[in-house]
Amino acid sequence: MSRYWSDLTHRLTPYVPGEQPRIAGLVKLNTNENPYGPSPLVLEAVRRAACERLRLYPDPEAHALRVAIAEHHRVRTQEVFVGNGSDEVLAHVFAGLLRHDRPLLFPDITYSFYPVYCGLFDVGFETVPLDEAMRVRVKDYRRPAGALILANPNAPTGLALDRDEIADLLDAQPDVPVVIDEAYVDFGAETAIPLVATHRNLLVVRTLSKGRSLAGLRVGYAVGDAALIEGLERVKNSFNSYPLGTLAQAGAIAAFADQAWFEACRAKIIASREHLAAGLERLGFVVLPSRANFLFVRHPDQDGHALAGGLRARAVLVRHFDKPRIADWLRISIGDPAQCEALLAAAADLLGRPPHAHGAG
Ligand code: PMP
Repeated sequence: MSRYWSDLTHRLTPYVPGEQPRIAGLVKLNTNENPYGPSPLVLEAVRRAACERLRLYPDPEAHALRVAIAEHHRVRTQEVFVGNGSDEVLAHVFAGLLRHDRPLLFPDITYSFYPVYCGLFDVGFETVPLDEAMRVRVKDYRRPAGALILANPNAPTGLALDRDEIADLLDAQPDVPVVIDEAYVDFGAETAIPLVATHRNLLVVRTLSKGRSLAGLRVGYAVGDAALIEGLERVKNSFNSYPLGTLAQAGAIAAFADQAWFEACRAKIIASREHLAAGLERLGFVVLPSRANFLFVRHPDQDGHALAGGLRARAVLVRHFDKPRIADWLRISIGDPAQCEALLAAAADLLGRPPHAHGAG
């Protein structure tokens, strides 16, 4: 607290990211990072870009990267916006597209940065409850609204809507911007990007942090009608002309050039997710059917806070949200097979089960 703060600063409730502890040997399954490294082509491109030319400013338009993204998704370059992580893209979206007289709608349980941006950018919002099975019901969003934002798959549930359901929503709300945050789409959900061609009110937000193993590079993007992108450019150019450094632009371009690496890593993660879900179910956990790189689980006999603490005491870090409706749930990121085994062993120990109670059979 300081008397030098502006009123706005006093009123903010900032987002709290998952812990990044400096404890050696910890199994870190709390921030949905990819357990596999980025493509070697990315590392080579970043090394090559680390040269004397760093004295120059990067391309403020990130043109080559936007061309690469446009080609990847078969859209036009004017339909692509890039930013310093999808969090920054989302910030510009909230500031530039989501503040209207009517409220912004999003689920009561979703990415907890959305209400934070509403606070920062003075966006009025209403939350729409997920149903008892923690699903988004599209029909609940057919009501007066200024704008809509949905994470698909949703976080932290991992449940996803099909493209047809998103199309229904877009048709039901043609006069308001609809933002689909596809941070986790690479792990098995359907992308809404093909709907951009037919729906001028759709903006899809993506990140390279999860599927492309580049959380440390900070690259996110949005795909939507050129007029929406132009609006985002206006906001960006009123904030920071150079959000993506030279190294980030070079690495991100290379990431789209190595589709084989991306496919191989995501296949391993999906296989581990299914294996981990089965193991947790054998230990008595309720596991939502995830299409993301994490599982959302609870144990009928344990409260969530105690479970998270018990796992932490066994050197396994997972995410627990101390919030209504989800206080008994844990969000567990999918690690490599050894990390998943460590989680299962720690959970078995915590529940007083024999060490291989989670094993196959
Ligand atoms: N959207 C959702 C739903 C997320 O969970 C995250 C990661 N915390 C982000 C966006 C932001 O990811 P990044 O800024 O790394 O692109």
